[in-house]
Amino acid sequence: MDTGCFAAVNPDMFKPCSERGPPQQGGVPPVKTSRTKPEQSKPELAQVVTDSRTGRRYSKGKLLGKGGFARCYEMTDLTSNKMYAVKVIPQNRVSKPHQREKITNEIELHKTLSHKHVVKFSHHFEDQDNIYIFLELCSRKSLAHIWKARHTLTEPEVRYYLRQIISGLKYLHNRGILHRDLKLGNFFVNENMELRLGDFGLAAKLETVEQRKKTICGTPNYLAPEVLNRHGHGTESDVWSLGCVMYTLMCGNPPFETLDLKETYKCIKEVRYNMPSNVSPTAQKLISGILQKNPSDRLSLDQILNHDFFSKGFTPDKLPPSSCVMVPELHPPSPAKKFFTKVAKSLFGKKKAKVEKIPCEEKDDKDLSKLVSGIVKSSINRQISYKTVGPNEAPSTTGQLVSSVPLEQTPAEEESRKSISRSFKGTMASSAEPCEDVLTPASVTELALKVLSSCLATMPSATRNPPCLSRPQTFLWVSKWVDYSNKYGFGYQLSNRSVGVLFNEGTHLSLCDQRKTVHYCLTNNKHFTFQASSLPEQLRSQKQIVELMANYMEQNLMEGGDLHCDEQTSSPPPLLLQWVKTDHALLMLFNNGTLQVNFYTDHTKIILCKSSDGSYLLTYISRERVSYTYLLSMLAEMGCASELRHRLRYVVQLLHHHADA
Ligand code: ADP
Repeated sequence: MDTGCFAAVNPDMFKPCSERGPPQQGGVPPVKTSRTKPEQSKPELAQVVTDSRTGRRYSKGKLLGKGGFARCYEMTDLTSNKMYAVKVIPQNRVSKPHQREKITNEIELHKTLSHKHVVKFSHHFEDQDNIYIFLELCSRKSLAHIWKARHTLTEPEVRYYLRQIISGLKYLHNRGILHRDLKLGNFFVNENMELRLGDFGLAAKLETVEQRKKTICGTPNYLAPEVLNRHGHGTESDVWSLGCVMYTLMCGNPPFETLDLKETYKCIKEVRYNMPSNVSPTAQKLISGILQKNPSDRLSLDQILNHDFFSKGFTPDKLPPSSCVMVPELHPPSPAKKFFTKVAKSLFGKKKAKVEKIPCEEKDDKDLSKLVSGIVKSSINRQISYKTVGPNEAPSTTGQLVSSVPLEQTPAEEESRKSISRSFKGTMASSAEPCEDVLTPASVTELALKVLSSCLATMPSATRNPPCLSRPQTFLWVSKWVDYSNKYGFGYQLSNRSVGVLFNEGTHLSLCDQRKTVHYCLTNNKHFTFQASSLPEQLRSQKQIVELMANYMEQNLMEGGDLHCDEQTSSPPPLLLQWVKTDHALLMLFNNGTLQVNFYTDHTKIILCKSSDGSYLLTYISRERVSYTYLLSMLAEMGCASELRHRLRYVVQLLHHHADA
């Protein structure tokens, strides 16, 4: 292992954005003076807010952010449990008629909008202290927060976000509305990483050139030359800001950023900006097609979408949440992906009739095992060589499995592995606890496949699940995970709060007992235990990475379910042997025989484990994150509802393909 690369971790990127201070768009303060007033003393917001007209009560959650007028809180409707982002505007901040008018304008305009890529306006009310505006909650904040953590995004990510911005913007422009404040902080991102255009505080109806108000509004770095020259703001001025957004995401800083506002304005008027050479020629062409001084020379939104940058480059369908803080590993769709999408659709989607048409024998199709191994990303991927992909390569040739020849370990990795091994032999030999009856990923897969297939085969049809165990025996499962295998490995938190990382080169390090104990596994049967305070030098950087991932998970990720158990300090936690990701689910195999499958879209989970009396327990964690544990024999005997049966079928298919890969 090359420990040098561990030092490259930037601990800041694991911090939640809130700890890094508000994201900055550039070095210049915003022109929107009405929004950047110093804070006046505000009445303390009550823990529960009541809408006196409807009687609905809302409980205040965490502070999401602060704007010029508003503080924005997460709030939960105590009747429906629905969560909102609520902009709370103190009455004393809108006491002047023009201030009040601004908020009324924002509300009246936003109310009328309904589009997939526009933040949904729910409702509003006011009491004597505040005005409350209830909006769709965008739990991953905004592109400004992502940009702050990442600085630059990859081209596929830029295409992913820009397509959604353009879709929302076309909707606005078609309705004759100008946004007039397009900037990273106004592109909100929801739990599913979908973009929503928001903040209509400066939005206005499009007027004829003669009628256009000649006021300057917007964010200085993103102001169009015609707005600065007081020729008014048209749809093309929004397009200009979009070009600035694209430049910022690709280059890491706004195009016209300088230390001096006057100089910035001069650069904008002269369209003077630098283009870093690492930006691809196609992206450069698109940016310069947008950043045209004359609005009529500027590309239109449709021309932008038809540009080679979009038509010749791959745009992912979705992005992993981890991409908010780290570079994602994105692969263009392969035939295998299409195949698995089809399987998943038949299992969970509308085409239920087709379920029976996807027999396990399909794995005998000579191309199938290749296809499936092509779509999975897993802890064994390092043994598979992928073609290196240029950002603009055509989708059909990129990211596909080109060979299954194992990659050689690099000499540095080999040497480092040996050196750790050597030093333990010298100093820690007595700590080694060789395991008997070592389970391998293959044996766990085989066993799980056997018991689940036979359960499905004997299961009668049923519409309901059997009674679940009221007090199931405690077992450990993965409550949070983070895939950072593009650099280091796969991290996970168990339900007893111990954390582990399966590193790319096959070693495993976990922290237990409130991080005081370190378990290190050089191989599946070479385990070492240390006090964190007396960890050998060679393992410190690995431990640091585990800690960084643990902190990231603690601060950013939700618990995957309601089942918790106390930390057993005496025995080492189960060891993750292997993880496999398909487009729809994550499979994890442990050295105690436990298998867990997490379905990404609805957050449901299946956990198969063995109880101390040798019987198998199957736990289903629902989309509401409620867990139900059944005796597998009971499921086999009494059957289960289709929700669970479909998932069990998917797991069996996944195991089949995995076993054959
Ligand atoms: P203002 O209009 O007063 O400038 P903003 O609309 O900018 O207020 O909101 C202030 C902050 O609140 C934003 O920076 C963002 O962090 C947060 N916020 C606003 N709307 C949402 C939302 N829909 N979901 C999540 N956070 C939001």
